[in-house]
Amino acid sequence: MNNYQIKTVITLGPASDSEQTIKKFAAGGASIFRLNFSHNTPDYFGRLIDMINDINARLNKHVSILLDLPGPKIRTGNPIGGKLELLEGETYSLGPDCQIPVSRQILSELPSKGGIKLADGKLELKIIDKLKGKLVVRAMNSGTLLDRQSINSQGLLYERSYPTKNDKAAISFGLKKGITSFALSFVSRKKDVTKVRDIVGEDIVLVSKIERREALRNFKEIAIASDAIMIARGDLGLNIDIAEVPLVQRKLIRASNQLRRPVITATQMLESMTTNVMPTRAEVNDVFNSVYEGSDAVMLSEETAIGAYPLRAFEMLKRITWKSQYFDDPQEHRESGPHEALVGAAAYIILSAGVKNVVFLTRGGAGPINLSRYHTNARIFALTDKKNVLDKLNIARGVEPFYFENLDTGVRKFIDGAGRRFGIKGTTLVIRSTVEHGPANSLELISI
Ligand code: PEP
Repeated sequence: MNNYQIKTVITLGPASDSEQTIKKFAAGGASIFRLNFSHNTPDYFGRLIDMINDINARLNKHVSILLDLPGPKIRTGNPIGGKLELLEGETYSLGPDCQIPVSRQILSELPSKGGIKLADGKLELKIIDKLKGKLVVRAMNSGTLLDRQSINSQGLLYERSYPTKNDKAAISFGLKKGITSFALSFVSRKKDVTKVRDIVGEDIVLVSKIERREALRNFKEIAIASDAIMIARGDLGLNIDIAEVPLVQRKLIRASNQLRRPVITATQMLESMTTNVMPTRAEVNDVFNSVYEGSDAVMLSEETAIGAYPLRAFEMLKRITWKSQYFDDPQEHRESGPHEALVGAAAYIILSAGVKNVVFLTRGGAGPINLSRYHTNARIFALTDKKNVLDKLNIARGVEPFYFENLDTGVRKFIDGAGRRFGIKGTTLVIRSTVEHGPANSLELISI
């Protein structure tokens, strides 16, 4: 019996897009597959979606698919030959049809002096000259520029309309393919989220990526309008002082916990495993601490999308989060109201009676998400009759969601089979909270 409380988000890409690898992630307990629409084509993602749906059906699992929208992120084009080796001190041309290709619009917004960061800051350029149709830049360090890398510089406008034309096309593609969760890149304000909500409707899970200074200022209203939060540390570390990132991460995790929005900590968690079989000690610390600070989920990006050891990185992530979840102390939440009282009492019973398993009947998913914030380390089997709620619950720490058309007969079936299927034995807490904001709820201790 395993009890991985911490959720893992796996970004799929060329290093992990085979059926065999995806199956291993799913069987190994991955909660969410992220498809990053900034890279690759709808055809490619369409095939992956079909493959994941098929694997889920065969393994009787519900690993969610999170379609990550590009947002108004500004990227380079495709260098000739697919990559460009930049050498420190050498000069290069940057512009449409140049060695470092960027659109005419980006070129017009770039200043005539100062610096440019590429690939989330891995490559730094100094602007030497602005000529007609191009900039002359000097590489401040050596490295490889791949296709469609991020480009950051003062002056580049982010205030393009939200969602962008590309986002809308990706949303429409995703909805047609049955996708029920989207990640929103570069949101700045509540309106960015509600504009997407107007397109997709109430039943779709929206995960807001926090990576802009403006999003920090407007965090509370963004979080309330969203179903979950992702701390996108890659771009965040470029848009604010990188030294501030740990502090901002802590504050965002704490605020998300308080607002009951599951929170994913993302980017460079085990970055060195993109090329090495072992992570650095600092990376292990980072994953451990991110969980300890209250993350519901942690995410792998390049490690699994283009890295040499995608499955090893996943196994390593699980090993670290496993250690961290048991070091963590239960959290206290003193909030008033009938729903809060029920969930608070449930947490008390779990901790004082040593309950290891909870069966939680829910409709909208608020109850199990609320209980998960107490970090009791009990497994929370959340049973819902609303399919759209599964993806939201999949992000929340310790919550294992299941769909049952008829909640009452489904529950009996689940409890009767639970011992066999999940190895559940002993005192189990059954919580009925199908009226999310009312008192018509109950707690029952049963023996399995
Ligand atoms: C990030 O910037 O940290 C992030 C998660 O977004 P992306 O991988 O799309 O750059």
